[in-house]
Amino acid sequence: MTKPTIAIVGRPNVGKSTLFNRIAGDRISIVEDEPGVTRDRIYATGEWLGHEFSIIDTGGIDLGDEPFMSQIKEQAQIAMDEADVILFVTSGREHVTDADEAVAHMLYRSNKPVILVVNKVDNPEMRNDIYDFYALGLGDPYPVSGAHGVGMGDVLDKAIQYFPEEKEEEEEGVIKFSLIGRPNVGKSSLINAILGEDRVIVSNIAGTTRDAIDTSFVDEEGQKFVMIDTAGMRKRGKVYENTEKYSVMRSMKAIDRSDVVLMVLNAEEGIREYDKRIAGFAHEAGKGMIIVVNKWDAIEKDNHTMKEFEEDIRKEFQYLSYAPIIFVSAKTKQRLNQLPALIEKVSMNQNLRVPSALLNDVIMDAIAINPTPTDKGRRLKIFYCTQVAVKPPTFIVFVNDEELMHFSYTRFLENQIRAAFDFEGTPIRVIPRRRT
Ligand code: GDP
Ligand code: GDP
Repeated sequence: MTKPTIAIVGRPNVGKSTLFNRIAGDRISIVEDEPGVTRDRIYATGEWLGHEFSIIDTGGIDLGDEPFMSQIKEQAQIAMDEADVILFVTSGREHVTDADEAVAHMLYRSNKPVILVVNKVDNPEMRNDIYDFYALGLGDPYPVSGAHGVGMGDVLDKAIQYFPEEKEEEEEGVIKFSLIGRPNVGKSSLINAILGEDRVIVSNIAGTTRDAIDTSFVDEEGQKFVMIDTAGMRKRGKVYENTEKYSVMRSMKAIDRSDVVLMVLNAEEGIREYDKRIAGFAHEAGKGMIIVVNKWDAIEKDNHTMKEFEEDIRKEFQYLSYAPIIFVSAKTKQRLNQLPALIEKVSMNQNLRVPSALLNDVIMDAIAINPTPTDKGRRLKIFYCTQVAVKPPTFIVFVNDEELMHFSYTRFLENQIRAAFDFEGTPIRVIPRRRT
């Protein structure tokens, strides 16, 4: 289901990213132990009183060298285009500024609900100063302190009142996927090729935001797919659409809605920082992943080219060792007919449930090969392992003390589980828990 989107706007330094972090909480951790994974706090998911939502910090979408005022305006435009509810953040430590007024004027033109947030109201006395902000003409100002975590509950209570009606139930058995990658890697060409004459396009489904158009189709075996729209696929000609940060944000949003993510690389250019950032996000989100190397027709090959390319990819995306790699060409259609079956397989693996008895046999064998570690004279004891979730498959290992379960041993158990069962294409989670 498409989650409602909250977007944060406001001039620099009012505390947008502080509030974003408060609202997103610990959900924004991005594979920290991977070198080269930059933390982009632009997009995250949050939850309030049982309502899930996405949140965007438009302040994180910097638009290159544009002047200050036009950057803020572009960011406000993004919020108006992407959000269901806009949080307009100002600072109670200053009076209303020209930049605040400029943003307010833009927001008047929007038909999206706006909540006026006055941040940095760190103590009760300061609440008297917020009345100035009525002058912005956006209704009641909500005093908060991002630094102290005060007042956000009222803001979120208000925000969820504006959320659109929940959409219809998810359709069973439909696989949702997206093609993610930098501009020009060939996403649109791949889509056109995948949707070629022999597949039936069932319908275009309008999303909650006016521009999101998903395409649904059925393959030869009758499997139904929904392809999720991402930035760069349907260009509409706004200035910000060509910026990398915007494209990252849209990609994250699409990944969030997908079961399986097709990470498209350009064979001519190899792997870039952008690819790693996006792949890290999909991995953290627990999505199925296929690495698609496109434009394979365009490079000179010998017997080693594919193997070398594969080694490069494995080196750059170490945490994605589970993702299958497929070398394709949108131009010649090479191997494209294998894609639907591969997506289906990865989706099945994401939903795979392993019987407990089999699972525990694997764990006991693992311990026999590689005894549990000790620390300060105490040995890790593993009592029992059980799968508690799918999408992604998640395993709880009951132990005497989770502090004794080192990362390397968790990784070892994960590898043993992978060796025993087919989890190709999906991240799996192995979580130690103390048995009480
Ligand atoms: P952004 O540029 O709008 O994203 O603002 P930041 O979140 O980076 O915050 C700008 C500065 O304001 C930082 O130094 C924050 O520590 C500070 N700040 C954020 N929230 C509060 C608050 O509630 N009270 C006070 N006193 N400072 C805050
Ligand atoms: P997008 O921005 O990722 O959607 O990329 P496009 O689909 O618009 O493709 C960008 C450019 O790469 C276009 O000029 C395409 O014709 C070209 N292109 C796409 N796929 C292939 C391919 O498999 N082989 C070759 N040689 N060119 C391709």
